[in-house]
Amino acid sequence: MTLNYDELDLARTLRAAGLRATPQRVAILRSIEHDKSHPTAQALFERLRAEFPAMSFATVYNTLAALTKAGRVQPMHLGTVTRFDPNVVPHHHAICDVCGTVRDVPAADEPLLPASLAEGFEVRRVEGIFRGRCGRCRKTRRTSAR
Ligand SMILES: [Zn+2]
Ligand SMILES: [Zn+2]
Repeated sequence: MTLNYDELDLARTLRAAGLRATPQRVAILRSIEHDKSHPTAQALFERLRAEFPAMSFATVYNTLAALTKAGRVQPMHLGTVTRFDPNVVPHHHAICDVCGTVRDVPAADEPLLPASLAEGFEVRRVEGIFRGRCGRCRKTRRTSAR
């Protein structure tokens, strides 16, 4: 098997995270790297199962944990659900209450801080969650109503 440039790059990232670059792990990393849907470990596992029937959920979970530790993905805790985000630059999220879609919202350079925080608190980053209904759900709601 010859690795193309993309795969070499993925293998390097895995090794930097302290993992051996197995075909399964390369596929996991490739799958999360450009995924803007903020998938759960379970969703990634189900997506990759067709290609790797012998892969265990633990492999997906442990790979994501190692990539998190290495700073390549960011876990996002929403209640009891953990999603994984390949975008590790500080940003906000908009979550649709109807379909659960999570979208990135760029963070402003100068966040507005509540006055109560001002004294003695050093802000490292600000992560906000905007909740509502996404454009698609608003449309379906409108057309299906009555
Ligand atoms: Zn929606
Ligand atoms: Zn995000």
